Amino acid sequence: MQVKLARKRGFCFGVEDAIELAERTLAEHEPGHVVALGPVIHNRQVVEQLERAGLNQSAELERLAPHTTVLIRSHGVGPETYDQARDLQLELVDATCVLVKRAQTVVRQLHEEGYQVVMIGDANHPEVRGVTSYAPNVIVVDREEDLAAALPSRGRLGIVAQTTHAPEHVAQMIGAIARHPFRELKIVNTLCLEVVRRQEAAAELAREVDVMFVLGGLHSANTQELARICSEVGVDTYHLETWGQFRPEMARGHQVAGVTAGASTPDFIINEFADQLRQFDPLPGSPSTT
Ligand code: SF4
Repeated sequence: MQVKLARKRGFCFGVEDAIELAERTLAEHEPGHVVALGPVIHNRQVVEQLERAGLNQSAELERLAPHTTVLIRSHGVGPETYDQARDLQLELVDATCVLVKRAQTVVRQLHEEGYQVVMIGDANHPEVRGVTSYAPNVIVVDREEDLAAALPSRGRLGIVAQTTHAPEHVAQMIGAIARHPFRELKIVNTLCLEVVRRQEAAAELAREVDVMFVLGGLHSANTQELARICSEVGVDTYHLETWGQFRPEMARGHQVAGVTAGASTPDFIINEFADQLRQFDPLPGSPSTT
């Protein structure tokens, strides 16, 4: 089968930095003495690799012995976690992505300037939970139909977005917010261009192929967004973690497949998938199309 790869795909600099920091921290400590506060990134295979190298995981700081080394993942955490870690005498290694750190700072500044802070994003995503704890009463909205109930009736809004959201979705939400009678809207662009470039490349490739495969953690927000964008182009789209989840019926009858991957998907998964797919015959009995 003919396979085309998106020109921008896979690891972003934030994820690369987080993995490098985790590996360096593990190399400097005895196995089992470094604990990550949740999965370092949203990719099961990478997390398992780090666990094999000695990384433990915990969701609760209070269970850890003093002086344990705790790794904060790329999605970041709220200020109360830093305070609690200091009180418990834990040693923090901070792998929060610089762009997530910036969103945290912006939220605090908007609040200090007197704005009601609104974050466009998924309220359950760890990045959003962390960012919104840098100011009191941050409103989180992700769907136009929720705006009327969620927003105040008037005032000054300071608006940010989850780093991994698509610009089109954010623009649509801001347009809908602007229909309400707010005297001032201050919008700070917190979108990650690494993600935007992957979204543009995915949409471009989806228009050229018969079927798209989007590789990455099933819980990864930026990978889910890539799959949504490819589906919206109108091409059959499958969001898979690895080649192990591929089924022949996904590609049967198609000639050209596109492959892209979220910002937390390592090259070895993308390369294995593309290599295997090139060997796959989507039209058994016909002359080879590769
Ligand atoms: S996707 Fe963007 S915001 Fe998220 S870790 Fe990567 S560089 Fe940072």
